[in-house]
Amino acid sequence: CGVFGVTGVAEAANFVALGLHALQHRGQEAGGIVSHDPEHGFNSARRFGYVRDHFTKASLMETLPGPLAIGHVRYSTSGSKGNTQLRDVQPFFGEFSLGGAAIAHNGNITNAEALRRELIDAGSIFQSSSDSECIIHLMARSLQRKVPDRMMDALRRVEGAFSIVAMTRTKLIGVRDPLGVRPLVLGRISEGVYALSSETCALDIIGAEFVREVEPGEMVVVENGELQSHRPFRQERPRFCIFEHVYFSRPDSILGGRSVYETRRQIGVELAREAPAEADLVCPVPDSGTPAAIGFSQESGIPYAMGIIRNQYMGRTFIEPTEQIRNMGVRLKLNVNRALIRGKRVILVDDSVVRGTTSRKIKEMILDAGAAEVHFRIASPPTAWPCFYGVDTPNRDKLLAASMTEEEMRAHLQVDSLRFITLNGLYRAVGEADGRDATCPQYCDACFSGDYPVTPTDQIEKGFAL
Ligand code: 5GP
Ligand code: SF4
Ligand code: MG
Repeated sequence: CGVFGVTGVAEAANFVALGLHALQHRGQEAGGIVSHDPEHGFNSARRFGYVRDHFTKASLMETLPGPLAIGHVRYSTSGSKGNTQLRDVQPFFGEFSLGGAAIAHNGNITNAEALRRELIDAGSIFQSSSDSECIIHLMARSLQRKVPDRMMDALRRVEGAFSIVAMTRTKLIGVRDPLGVRPLVLGRISEGVYALSSETCALDIIGAEFVREVEPGEMVVVENGELQSHRPFRQERPRFCIFEHVYFSRPDSILGGRSVYETRRQIGVELAREAPAEADLVCPVPDSGTPAAIGFSQESGIPYAMGIIRNQYMGRTFIEPTEQIRNMGVRLKLNVNRALIRGKRVILVDDSVVRGTTSRKIKEMILDAGAAEVHFRIASPPTAWPCFYGVDTPNRDKLLAASMTEEEMRAHLQVDSLRFITLNGLYRAVGEADGRDATCPQYCDACFSGDYPVTPTDQIEKGFAL
């Protein structure tokens, strides 16, 4: 998901709509905005579909007045997956003894089911099926008086990944979990006018300057143009999601001081060194494989070409929740540039292989178009484990790499060769010259390594075996 908030501007909701539009790649199912204005109090709007289809209409934006607003774009990883109800669309809102608060959450709470049971037993009335709603109920039960203090109390009970943008009547709040699994950055529009965003690309769109990341384990509170920083949690070594670098974030964003585009290009360079191939063309699987394909071409000297053309009017395939739609999506979205491919030995670069559906279809299309050979090069290690921290990977039994070796996957996909970047190669590409520190890894890489930095409590209860 994507989260965004701003305070200290006229018509803050318009800024939030622009920010969410720039974060649309993080979630396309639905979006919501909450604003506050001293005259009208809190107002909210939640809609299915793209930000641009709803939050551009004057008739809707007029209902969201005020200088303070937050928003969320949703990509379902928990709750009613594939069957999202409007009640699951964030931001969530709660009314407490000293005023209300709204929160927008990116990530996934790994002990949400245990918390939900406890809260329901204690009398909480849940409105949604979302894990994020627990935070509001935990806040309601806190004995603290101020909303930020209630929030700290609540979040100390929450396990898993959370990057949160929240607001009260007067405050804009940003928090990251102690490991900082999901991103969150602070921007400044002018003196004392701040914005919070999942990624820097959304600061660019509103002309805000990037100040710094909200640090893992940090809570920032902006009120009356003043920014305060709190450290509510025990300090831990951060474990940022390495897959944000590979796929999830936009290439024009800066993560951990590094350009995402440059990291992806470097992944391609590493791949070309680790797994060279003799071929005539290097082609990306658009758009997610593009920077890595550029790097692969530059390092190998094999010409880069657009062998597959993407229809720009389709969303991301993987994010459409049902399998049937996903299967259709690949054909609607990608087509082979036949004139280019015919008779050529082609290296195809993609970001990841999950179920193998995309790769299999693309291989068929490329061979249909008369390619002489197909070599897959993948910009992440084999995805062998599900993510429980906010990226929607399927159960283990659907993950190709959970039950097959690299050679078995190659045979299954029926391609001439298939190679994945190694975990160390990936770490080098994100700037860790010595690779992965196995005793204390610098990133979360659980979907590749099975090394889960936060115990997935709910999943283990349901029978998931580490
Ligand atoms: P597959 O077809 O192998 O199941 O999925 C791999 C494709 O899904 C890749 O092309 C990748 O770009 C895309 N994709 C979209 N969203 C995600 C995601 O959240 N995780 C992963 N691993 N791949 C995703
Ligand atoms: Fe990111 Fe993978 Fe960790 Fe999930 S399991 S947070 S996708 S690195
Ligand atoms: Mg892709």
